[in-house]
Amino acid sequence: MPVKSKYDFNDLTKKLGGQKMPLCNFCGTCIGICPSGALTSDYEAGKPVFDESRCTQCSLCYLHCQGIKVDFSELDAKFKGGDKFDTYLKSYKKCFLGHSEDDQVRRKGASGGSVTRLLVYMLEKKIVDGVILPRNKPDQKWLFRPEIVTDIKTVKASSQSKYCLIPTNEILKTLKDKKGKYAIVALPCQIHSLRKLQNEGNKHAQKIEYILALICGHNMEYGATTFGMKKLKIHKEDVIDVKYREHGDWPGGLSFHLKNGERKGINFFNYHYLNAVYLPNRCRLCPDYYGNYSDISFGDSWLVRLLGRGMNERGLPKGWSSIIVRTQKGLSLIESAQKDGAMHLEEIEPAEIHESFPFNISYKLNGIFIRLKLARKKPEFIGLQKPEKLDRYFYHFIYNIVLIIGASRAFRFFLSIMPLNFNLFLIKNFKKLMGYKPNARDMVLKYNEKSNV
Ligand SMILES: Cc1cc2nc3c(=O)[nH]c(=O)nc-3n(C[C@H](O)[C@H](O)[C@H](O)COP(=O)(O)OP(=O)(O)OC[C@H]3O[C@@H](n4cnc5c(N)ncnc54)[C@H](O)[C@@H]3O)c2cc1C
Repeated sequence: MPVKSKYDFNDLTKKLGGQKMPLCNFCGTCIGICPSGALTSDYEAGKPVFDESRCTQCSLCYLHCQGIKVDFSELDAKFKGGDKFDTYLKSYKKCFLGHSEDDQVRRKGASGGSVTRLLVYMLEKKIVDGVILPRNKPDQKWLFRPEIVTDIKTVKASSQSKYCLIPTNEILKTLKDKKGKYAIVALPCQIHSLRKLQNEGNKHAQKIEYILALICGHNMEYGATTFGMKKLKIHKEDVIDVKYREHGDWPGGLSFHLKNGERKGINFFNYHYLNAVYLPNRCRLCPDYYGNYSDISFGDSWLVRLLGRGMNERGLPKGWSSIIVRTQKGLSLIESAQKDGAMHLEEIEPAEIHESFPFNISYKLNGIFIRLKLARKKPEFIGLQKPEKLDRYFYHFIYNIVLIIGASRAFRFFLSIMPLNFNLFLIKNFKKLMGYKPNARDMVLKYNEKSNV
């Protein structure tokens, strides 16, 4: 029985920045753990909805909100997954480059199809009773919500990254009525709350046996998807599926599947760079890139040396995953998947993981300290380790201003009346102005750039 305390959701809202709640990125934790059903999801707005009449002031929402506070020293102390340490990866056991050995899964995946293949493997081998991943809302197919999936066909159909706010931790509510063991795919911020709950002995969170993280540079508000629909003159009611990494060749752009069988899309760059406009404030203030508290973290791999390997019939590269294994449980799982022919793995050193992400290491893992310093409203991060020397102070300062202007209503309106690739034009020129040096990722993307706009 929850004990009454001084905090309720109204206090939480105030701390998150009032009505607009800029420090909420709809992770779903408050909705998932509310014992009285006072919190539900508004999927389209990307916000929890509060019914004050049902609130018992138990404080659970307040105490587990990662927009309010993350105690990294507590997480680090209780979550000692790996026996090795890297400044950026934190605790880990082994790093790999990899992909699904099932070529169809690889081609349909966001990177190497590794997450989907591993989830399928867990179901095939009955290692878990179900896997938790985002699925289209049955009545509003352009939106996503977390579901427990037990059939392999659905897991395969759910591959690819969803670059929109999904309240993954809302699933804790469903887990209350379930027995068994589950695997979840979640973003670093969502994992902060899940691990906190697991550490505290929350029995529903403890049903999650495996946490697979998606490495995360940022997420995007649902407005970015709507922007794509408007530019392509699509009505949301006509949408039966949204794929964020499908249009054109790999890495693939935003694609809408329509009721009439048509598919319309915009290329990777045109969607990807909307992050400067639809970036949730909480993502601008996030210090965890590599999903530091997962069992295994997965991201893209943009190594130039992979370019000659694994081309499709049009001579374009197939996806590879950067994989960071953090726990013994994660390592045993992925190595048995390799032994059974489900996964292709090549062990690498952390340096080759970082080589794919020079921008994100600089922007997210160094720039965060500058953004936090400049932010008036911010989460309380305890025990966050600062690098010895912060790089490119001026660049991060200017970029922070660009992100704030980008997210303003005025700029969003301006962009909505400009041609589709105007934002891409702005970002490219801004990068040039700031002396941005092309990296491995830019070289890989050059292959794809001309495929479609
Ligand atoms: C918001 C976001 C930001 C990202 N930023 C980066 C980045 O900066 N650098 C980088 O290298 N990689 C990033 N990724 C991860 C990358 O895009 C791929 O998801 C990852 O490499 C796994 O690819 P895969 O082919 O192995 O997975 P797939 O086989 O395509 O499977 C992906 C699985 O993840 C699930 N999933 C997709 N989106 C979400 C979501 N939002 N929440 C929970 N589950 C989800 C899918 O349902 C599917 O089960 C990001 C992903 C997301 C969603």
